[in-house]
Amino acid sequence: MRTPYLSIDLDKVEHNARTLVNLGRMHGVTIAGVTKGTLGSPEVAKAMRRGGVQWLGDSRLENIERMRNAGIRGPFLLMRSPQLSEVERTVSLAEVSLNTEYEVIHALSEAALKQGVVHNILLMVDLGDLREGLWPEELLPLVLEVTRMRGIRILGLGTNLTDLNGTIPTPENNQRLVDLAEEVESRCDVHLEWLSAGNSSSLKLLASGRLPRRINHFRIGEGILLGRETIEREIWPGTYQDAFVLTGEIIECKRKPSVPSGERGQDAFGNVPILEDRGMMTRAIVNLGRQDLRLEGIAPQHPSLGIIGATSDHLVLETTAAPELKVGDHVNFSPDYGALLAAMTSPFVQKSIRRATAVMPE
Ligand SMILES: *Cc1c(COP(=O)(O)O)cnc(C)c1O
Repeated sequence: MRTPYLSIDLDKVEHNARTLVNLGRMHGVTIAGVTKGTLGSPEVAKAMRRGGVQWLGDSRLENIERMRNAGIRGPFLLMRSPQLSEVERTVSLAEVSLNTEYEVIHALSEAALKQGVVHNILLMVDLGDLREGLWPEELLPLVLEVTRMRGIRILGLGTNLTDLNGTIPTPENNQRLVDLAEEVESRCDVHLEWLSAGNSSSLKLLASGRLPRRINHFRIGEGILLGRETIEREIWPGTYQDAFVLTGEIIECKRKPSVPSGERGQDAFGNVPILEDRGMMTRAIVNLGRQDLRLEGIAPQHPSLGIIGATSDHLVLETTAAPELKVGDHVNFSPDYGALLAAMTSPFVQKSIRRATAVMPE
C-alpha cells in the first residue's frame, strides 16, 4: 500500500454506532449519525446505518450529494444553516436543515414550492455556546413568521453546545430548550416533534438519566467515529477508539543534535521554536505534513515515540527510545477529530477501508 494512508475499520464504526444508538434508545433519544468528519464517506455512512442509525447528518451539501450518489437514501440532515445561494440544492439534497435566519427560510420555502415538496427545518436556539442559534427571545416571532410560509415544516428545535466555547450540557440548559418548546407550542399552532439537543458532549448527561424527558434527538459524530465523549475527551465505554488509524512511512532516520546550529529566526510557519539541549538524539522523518494532519491532534501508537514538529510535508519524530525503527518502516498514529478531518481532506492520504471482524476490547 502506498503511504501515507488512513485505515478505516468499518466494523468498528458500526459497533460504535450500535452502542450509542442502543444507549439513546434506553433513554428515548434518536441518534443521528454525523458523517462530516469523514467528508461524507459513503462506506462510513453505510456502517452507521448497519449500526442502527436512521438519520444521517452532514454540514456540507457536497458530502450529502456524495452519499446520495452512492445510493444512500435519506433522511439527510444538513447541519449548517443553508447558504442563500444554495437553497435549491438544499431542498433537493436534504430532507431537513438547521436554520436560524428568516431570509434563508423564506428562500427555502420558495424553493420547496417550486420543487413541489415540503422542506423540514429544525430551528436552532443558542443556549450559551455562542455559535449558531437564535437568541431565545427571537424564537417566538420567527416561528410565527415561518408558520405562515408554505413548503416549510418546523420539525422541532435544536441546540448545539460545547463546539465553539465549551459550554457544558446540563439538565438546566436542556430544560431551557424544553421550556422554550412548550412556550412556542402554547402560543403558536405547532407541534415540535424533535428536540435535538445533543452532540457528543451530551453523552454523559444522556447516560446519567438526567436529560429532560422531552429531549429526543442527538446528532453524534465523534462518539461514533472515535469512541469519545467531547467534554473531557474520555473514552466512551464499550466503543473502539481506533476505527481510524493514520500511517506514514519513515523517509529519513538519523542521529542529530537536539538543538539546531547557527543564528535562528522564524520557522516555516512564523514561530520561533524553543528547544532544550538534550544532547544527541535519533530522529526520523515521516512522509506526512501539515497539509495532511493537525500536528497537535495525532498521537503515535508506538509508546516511546515523541513528536518534535512538522512542516508542510515533513513530520519529525524523536526515535531515540525506539532504536529498531529504520527507513521504510511504517508508523501509526491515532488521529483526534481535527486530525481525522485533515487526513480525510488531504488528497495525499490514501483511504484504506476495511470490514474486518474484530474482537471487542473489554
Ligand atoms: C458537528 C456537529 C455535530 C456533531 O458533533 P460531535 O461532537 O462530533 O458529536 C452535531 N451538531 C451540529 C450542529 C454539528 O455541527
